[in-house]
Amino acid sequence: MIIRNVRILGGEPVDIRVENGLIAAVTPAGAQPPAAGDQVVEGQGAVALPGLVDLHTHLREPGREDAETVQTGTQSAARGGYTAVHAMANTSPVADTAGVVEQVWRLGHEFGHCDVHPVGAVTVGLEGRQLAELGAMADSAARVRVFSDDGKCVDDAVLMRRALEYVKAFDGVVAQHAQEPRLTGGAQMNEGQVSGRLGLTGWPAVAEEAIIARDCLLAAHVGSRLHVCHVSTAGSVEILRWAKSKGWDVTAEVTPHHLLLTDDLVEESPVGAYNPIYKVNPPLRTRADVEALREALADGTIDVVATDHAPHPVEDKETEWSAAAMGMVGLETALSVVQEAMVETGLLDWAGVADRMSAAPARIGRLSGQGQPLQVGSPANIVLYDPSVRTEVDPSAFASKSRNTPYEGMTLPGRVVATFLRGKPTVLEGKLV
Ligand SMILES: [Zn+2]
Repeated sequence: MIIRNVRILGGEPVDIRVENGLIAAVTPAGAQPPAAGDQVVEGQGAVALPGLVDLHTHLREPGREDAETVQTGTQSAARGGYTAVHAMANTSPVADTAGVVEQVWRLGHEFGHCDVHPVGAVTVGLEGRQLAELGAMADSAARVRVFSDDGKCVDDAVLMRRALEYVKAFDGVVAQHAQEPRLTGGAQMNEGQVSGRLGLTGWPAVAEEAIIARDCLLAAHVGSRLHVCHVSTAGSVEILRWAKSKGWDVTAEVTPHHLLLTDDLVEESPVGAYNPIYKVNPPLRTRADVEALREALADGTIDVVATDHAPHPVEDKETEWSAAAMGMVGLETALSVVQEAMVETGLLDWAGVADRMSAAPARIGRLSGQGQPLQVGSPANIVLYDPSVRTEVDPSAFASKSRNTPYEGMTLPGRVVATFLRGKPTVLEGKLV
């Protein structure tokens, strides 16, 4: 197969030859005419990036197949340019045993439109009382390296310390959902001026920052790897900057929505006040937080963009604010939101996007066949992206089973044209193959 006229990381136009799932040659566009029998894909000047890797996806299977399945979630991922996702453990049953992570891994093999890497729970049932079988999950066919109670925080410092010690044996990482539960009882949105005006219980920044500070110190104390999920405040950025300056092995992610949206949307938005489409954990914060997160992603204090794709059926989302589920879908809009927040603002170039959305997440997840540069010998995991168009977000066109996007009706830049998983197209001309 030959992919003609694409610009790797936005550079000069080239043709990419793919053989046996690998990149076999990269030559100046038009220099080598296709041979007879070649499958030709016309790139039309699209930007070529290494296939995106998500560290934080909720595929909902097993247990909530009404919201998403491994099949629809990975279709959604492929449409967004992803070639690998990490499937979070808060399923039903919880992915806290070798049996459940192998089940998810097998579903990924059978139905996946991208690679599926199960995340293992840190504690049994996500209950925060007893460590799960971390070693058995690491040794299983799923070869789990990322462990998280996401949705809940491992708030017990002793358990967190033990988990960090345990994962060192197999080079694993604990991905913490940083939320001190005693500071967020009944919390509905960011604690600040807007929550005060609306009379909604606030979610203070310190609830996130206190856990991040504690966990950085614990990770340093035991010499282990810590990853911080969905960082949302300017104060968290300062703590991470400090931890990294010490040389500690701490990484962090930010979601696309925390790079673009703010808490005043809860009060006033194109879809009205109190619209639960904006209800998410951690909550949307202030403009100053958004600015700090963008800067941190640009300077590498935050390593990764992760979607926290959280599909919910209509009945769980279109209800009154206090009863609505928390979360947003994100796989199919992630690259466009990152272009809007980071590329259009001059904070990241396409090489930077490739690092934060492919190379860095693959490195943190210890995925050897993902996140590699588009050069001869690399697996042909490629996304072709046209940054020149602007389109209105239409949730009815999503491959995801769920529609809970905060971007409905918004005009965002860019479009995923094609995605290739080890040379096999999963998306062509913007459509699933
Ligand atoms: Zn979370």
